[in-house]
Amino acid sequence: MYDEVISFIRSLFPGKNFIHLHEPRFMGREKEYVNAAIDSTFVSSVGEFVNRFEEMICEYTGAGYAVATVNGTSALHAALMVAGVADGDEVITQPLTFVATANAIAYCRAHPIFVDVDRDTMGLAPEALKKFLDTRTEQAGGMSRNKNTGRRIAACVPMHTFGHPCRINQIAEICRKRNITLIEDAAESLGSTLHGRQTGTFGRFGIYSFNGNKTISCGGGGVIVTDDQALAAHAKHLTTTAKKPHSYLYEHDEVGFNYRMPNLNAALACAQMEQLEFFIANKRQLTAVYKKFFEKSGNIGFVNEQENARSNYWLNTVIMPDRKTRDTFLEETNNAKIMTRPAWNLLHSLPMYANCQTDGLKNAEWLADRIVNIPSSVRCSELQGRVF
Ligand SMILES: *Cc1c(COP(=O)(O)O)cnc(C)c1O
Repeated sequence: MYDEVISFIRSLFPGKNFIHLHEPRFMGREKEYVNAAIDSTFVSSVGEFVNRFEEMICEYTGAGYAVATVNGTSALHAALMVAGVADGDEVITQPLTFVATANAIAYCRAHPIFVDVDRDTMGLAPEALKKFLDTRTEQAGGMSRNKNTGRRIAACVPMHTFGHPCRINQIAEICRKRNITLIEDAAESLGSTLHGRQTGTFGRFGIYSFNGNKTISCGGGGVIVTDDQALAAHAKHLTTTAKKPHSYLYEHDEVGFNYRMPNLNAALACAQMEQLEFFIANKRQLTAVYKKFFEKSGNIGFVNEQENARSNYWLNTVIMPDRKTRDTFLEETNNAKIMTRPAWNLLHSLPMYANCQTDGLKNAEWLADRIVNIPSSVRCSELQGRVF
């Protein structure tokens, strides 16, 4: 049924037997930097590449401060803790996201609340957020409280799905008015912008991931960004076992985490950062080809970036007519060794989050039935002799 799509995708990745969803590419100075880290003997949580990587992130995103961590999940966990999210708090997020978003909330012993997404951005819907806050919460003592549970709404964690910026400026305004800390899960959207501003820099905190399947990767890695110097200092303290600076004493002043990114990974991350804009340009070129194909394919929809947004198009996304055609498409493409994937199971349907509050998840359910991610790696066939 989908033979034409299959041969089209094959033609985009010539010479590949199995076509992955998203492969990392190491085409720059990765080996040089990793060797330099080994030669320096600083391979662990202290070293010049960790500092350099944090500077590169600040320069690239425009954020004031960056704190590198072992992965995106730990970055999110630490950001929530530094924001003061604690036992018994509630945190609003979206049901259509990777499980790590809710896990990080649960690590703080806080309760996720799942609010609907927009169909076009696939990220948290400002209207749904506002409706939830207007009808289910009240303002008291300078904070928002859930009228049913009496708990504080401590934070809101929207996610930029598959690299597409959500309506983050509207979400920021809603949170600001109600004194709710905004933490952006920008794990998938490094390099994506809204009105020219980088996703991850609209909230009090933003986090990015450098896992193997992300736009750029350092094996495992994450980073927290913020414009607040004191919060950044606390994030660094908390992620480095909360050890007070001293030339020889082991003084720790709170329960800290061993979340610091090792210098070896940071070496890889620095080399990858140098290629980020080139990777995004290459990926956007692939998107343009996909878009043209699917626009004349009839009943398969293609998710485009929104007006005023630039998406990094981490994963290209098609929208199938219904769940049945989605399943056929997944079956046929995967049988043909083309890796395609459905959306994540909505988080409120997972056993550990089944009892969480939700609020009219129509769009999330509609999308979950129809989303398919298609191969989106940087294409080597389009390198045109480029060297770094
Ligand atoms: C990848 C990802 C994370 C977690 O990042 P890791 O580096 O894998 O821990 C968190 N949230 C979202 C939405 C992600 O896609």
